[in-house]
Amino acid sequence: MKPHLVKIKSLKLITHDVLLVLTDKPVKFSYVPGQAVEISINKPGWQTDRRSFYFISIPETTDLEFCIKTYPEHNGVTNELLKLHVGDELIVYEEFGEISYRGEGLFIAEGVGIAPFLSIFRNLNSRHLIGNNQLIFINKTKADIILETELTNILDGNYTNILSEEQTAAYAHGPITEHILKHFLNGKQKYVYVSGSAKMIAAVEKILTALHISKDFIVKETAEERKPVVYSNYQQFYSIIPMFNSKSYDQH
Ligand SMILES: Cc1cc2nc3c(=O)[nH]c(=O)nc-3n(C[C@H](O)[C@H](O)[C@H](O)COP(=O)(O)OP(=O)(O)OC[C@H]3O[C@@H](n4cnc5c(N)ncnc54)[C@H](O)[C@@H]3O)c2cc1C
Repeated sequence: MKPHLVKIKSLKLITHDVLLVLTDKPVKFSYVPGQAVEISINKPGWQTDRRSFYFISIPETTDLEFCIKTYPEHNGVTNELLKLHVGDELIVYEEFGEISYRGEGLFIAEGVGIAPFLSIFRNLNSRHLIGNNQLIFINKTKADIILETELTNILDGNYTNILSEEQTAAYAHGPITEHILKHFLNGKQKYVYVSGSAKMIAAVEKILTALHISKDFIVKETAEERKPVVYSNYQQFYSIIPMFNSKSYDQH
């Protein structure tokens, strides 16, 4: 599939470091809730710097939406995104990824790892199929929780926040433990969807193994699936998006 140029329709910080980015959607562009895509910025010097992000939108809408944690200290793509405005352009490549909805289960997300689950939940909700799906959402502090109101509305009582670095009366505190997972799994073999840092995923998998949850029921992005499709060289890249030659470079 060819890379596409998309225009930013809105861009706003929804926490101290997470950007919500809405763009238009290319014609005939399709993806499955839970998938990711590589994105670069259509500005001189940035077109070939591709980074992966999950769609949080659903395929039926006319927009693409992403929530993107920004790292100003990296001086990379996410820092550059902070400088963009409505009307600026991004380049989106081919969708990829293995996270998809297999059936009811327990979703465990850490921080911006909620992104693929947002698309899945929005999709299920639009079809009135949210059922008994449950979410455990782990964040450092309350201020880090992304789109809490929307998640509460979609999941109703089946949504639990855990804060690892803040103690409040309203939220559970601490790391995710065998005790917590036992409580949520309730002795049943359910799908367990895990998204977050490699460290968190490894810790959860260790507990799930101890609880005899089969690997076939664990849905996550594996190392292989994280590998992006890389265009072999610059020349191929620019021949795929010929409009760059005239547009981006003529402008500056
Ligand atoms: C499949 C997949 C889906 C993803 N989906 C999402 C998503 O939906 N939302 C989201 O927010 N993230 C997501 N990510 C993570 C996201 O891709 C990265 O956070 C993003 O690539 C960071 O890009 P960056 O250019 O800002 O920084 P980086 O690419 O991390 O760093 C740029 C440069 O900064 C330097 N650097 C690295 N670490 C440091 C440091 N600690 N201090 C100083 N300099 C440093 C290095 O030289 C590096 O080359 C996803 C990742 C994958 C693999």
